[in-house]
Amino acid sequence: MGAADLRAAVERDAPRRRAELERLVRHASVAFDGFPREPVLAAADAVEALLRDAGAADVERLEVPGDPPALLGRWPGPAGAPEVLLYAHYDVQPADPAQWRSDPWTPEVRNGRLHGRGAADDKSGIAAHLSALRAWAGRPPVGVKVLVEGGEENGRQRLLGVLGREAERLRADVLAIGDGGNRRLGEPALEGSLRGHGKLTVTVRTLEGALHSGQFGGAAPDALLALTRMLASLHDDAGDVAVAGLRDGAWAGAGIPEDEFRREARVLEGVGLPGTGPVADRIWARHAVSVLGVDAPAVAGAPNAVPAEARALVSVRVPPGAEPAASMAAVQAHVEAAAPWGARVEVAVEPASAPIAVDPGAPGAAAAERALAAAYGRPVERIGSGGSIPLVAALHAAFPEAGIVIWGAQDAGARIHAADERVDLGELGRFALAEALLLAELA
Ligand SMILES: [Zn+2]
Repeated sequence: MGAADLRAAVERDAPRRRAELERLVRHASVAFDGFPREPVLAAADAVEALLRDAGAADVERLEVPGDPPALLGRWPGPAGAPEVLLYAHYDVQPADPAQWRSDPWTPEVRNGRLHGRGAADDKSGIAAHLSALRAWAGRPPVGVKVLVEGGEENGRQRLLGVLGREAERLRADVLAIGDGGNRRLGEPALEGSLRGHGKLTVTVRTLEGALHSGQFGGAAPDALLALTRMLASLHDDAGDVAVAGLRDGAWAGAGIPEDEFRREARVLEGVGLPGTGPVADRIWARHAVSVLGVDAPAVAGAPNAVPAEARALVSVRVPPGAEPAASMAAVQAHVEAAAPWGARVEVAVEPASAPIAVDPGAPGAAAAERALAAAYGRPVERIGSGGSIPLVAALHAAFPEAGIVIWGAQDAGARIHAADERVDLGELGRFALAEALLLAELA
């Protein structure tokens, strides 16, 4: 099938691609603790049905103990043809409807963008894979495996436990990870790196119980104040990470103008960016330490008391070139040493996934670049990704010779993990075409 036929087929598929994405968005597939399981399993069923509808020769459910199942659909290629694994995930981040302009679980198209939780991250990846395979009428010129997991966002990484058992079935020459995106709509990019990600839960105790802040305040050690001092010490006055022993790098690819980053990040007027040096270094090549949550008395109803205990969840992004375990140990040591007044500190570490630096010369990478340039009609830029996809690191470790391609329809304006997440339907079509063309390039 020629490029023009594929382009026409992907174009014809637009209504169905959109309908399938809408169907997936309607399932509130949040696979976090404390969220209902039914919508997650309903999303798994929907993915399974859609893989079959797109002509998979077989679809397997990979049961993942403690997490929703992953789905593996297979399209065998001609004998001797290479194998390509297309990855996406159907689980999503939680969404607070109060912060959204439209209901997060009711897809709504505004200005050509389909809004809904997961519309971009990463149900767009599923929709693109299905559309690309339909462009080939279900008979791609290479062997295709589509792996759609349901536990990417919760950080539990349980699928990794299954990987050892399933490695042979997942083996591929090229791993095409459809969970990325371009920096700007219509301007194609390949992601050259992923940071690893780990977390620490820091618990501080100073008193046997909370105390009257009039009777004891002033001399009693305040656990919440102790915690905030420890957290504040993680960065210096300029906003750079102040933890000793972290190995940072420098970004060699395309840079990001600061004003463009400010717009994308929707930084409030008059508020500065923390840290020094190029923005691309800060988000792609260096460690980032963020405080994701704090457990402390809530403001409403807080007693007039000195807190005895406080807790924080700290996230550490680990860039390529750094050793994840060493980075986590350095942050842990820093936090422990920063405790004032000999406050008792307990740190629980969730190990960091491995960072990935993609080799642009590896098989698949050049083919993806040609496919992407043809689909968009523009040259391709190399960007980083501050994000993490734990399974990619594990697949990379299992098949070190396989080429890795990280791309997708999630442009920088897609507001993933945030309110009003959306995907541009034109971008989704261009990405689906790039995937269809990649299969031709690899044949
Ligand atoms: Zn994702």
